[in-house]
Amino acid sequence: MHSSQKNTPSDRTTRVAELKEAVDRFRTERDWKQFHKPKDLGVALVTEVGELLEHFRYKSDEGITAYMCDPKNKRDVEHELADVINLSLLLAIELDIDVSKAFFDKLEVSAKKYPVHLAKGKASKYTEYKEILMKNLQS
Ligand SMILES: [Mg+2]
Repeated sequence: MHSSQKNTPSDRTTRVAELKEAVDRFRTERDWKQFHKPKDLGVALVTEVGELLEHFRYKSDEGITAYMCDPKNKRDVEHELADVINLSLLLAIELDIDVSKAFFDKLEVSAKKYPVHLAKGKASKYTEYKEILMKNLQS
């Protein structure tokens, strides 16, 4: 590993709590908490999602793959995704949501809605096989 990369944070070494602390510290230093009511964070989050998706607008899947091969484009997309994560974390802080607990709770709920034997390889919504699910739950 190059010496300048030694302390680069990564998903492997960074805890969600550290990310929350970093965004909270960033806004506290700027006295921005006063602007971070849940509704406003939600509006900002959707805005950032739009900025992220703007990079993909009117591009085919292959076009997006090619676009992401350019390091500048990839960095721009990374930064938009970081904005989305940043605002999601601020929303979690403001609403006292433990991100990891919420994430895994929801994954468990989704696993029940989309059992592998019914959902594998299908993009349909769970309501399309809701009857089968209900029968399975009753038996
Ligand atoms: Mg942005």
